[in-house]
Amino acid sequence: MKKVLVLEDESSIRSFIVINLRRAGYEVIEAETGEEALEKLQQHTDVRVALLDIMLPGIDGFEVCRRIRATNTKIGIIMLTARSQEMDKVTGLMTGADDYVTKPFSPAELTARVDALMRRSGGAAEEAAEELRQDPFLLNTRNRTLEKNGQRIKLTQMEYSIMRMFMENPGKALSREEILDLVWGRDYFGELKIVDVNIRRLRLKIEDNPTNPTYITTVWGYGYKWGF
Ligand code: CA
Repeated sequence: MKKVLVLEDESSIRSFIVINLRRAGYEVIEAETGEEALEKLQQHTDVRVALLDIMLPGIDGFEVCRRIRATNTKIGIIMLTARSQEMDKVTGLMTGADDYVTKPFSPAELTARVDALMRRSGGAAEEAAEELRQDPFLLNTRNRTLEKNGQRIKLTQMEYSIMRMFMENPGKALSREEILDLVWGRDYFGELKIVDVNIRRLRLKIEDNPTNPTYITTVWGYGYKWGF
């Protein structure tokens, strides 16, 4: 069974989410506080996607995200943001979330986002062992790992998918729309900004100097290029 954790302190919103995810075939674990969510994730190590509300009593959703990511890069994380808090989207993604959903959202939008992350969190059977090497990087598509100069770089599932897309398209300028389609899928409802924020975060991990990137270069007014 595909397991999702829902962290939301408002019980009406939480039941709305839970009912719709169960209807879509997911097993749902509920938590009311960040502390409870972290505890439940320790008990249920097979949770593949976590939905995290931001404003909570006790530790907030960003802190929960940070603590999950400190030990777990595999799980997919979606932040639940309020429309008025535009900056939360960026902050959430920078603390390690893969995506965000803005309240109020429709059941279709919510399940589409969860489905998209599920597909990327190792649900589908991976193909035979394969390595993509472009010095100094080595991408292993079976283990879904990345090394730079022989050192493992910890990536989230989304970051891994972006790296793989780049390494499969060396030297090709990719528009932000193309990247959104290739990485998040054509049925994705999200905004182009998510591409920029994820790439910003990826640059922090892989570039020698993230403020002057040489591997992932910006193609102004268009998108990005894997600069080999
Ligand atoms: Ca709340």
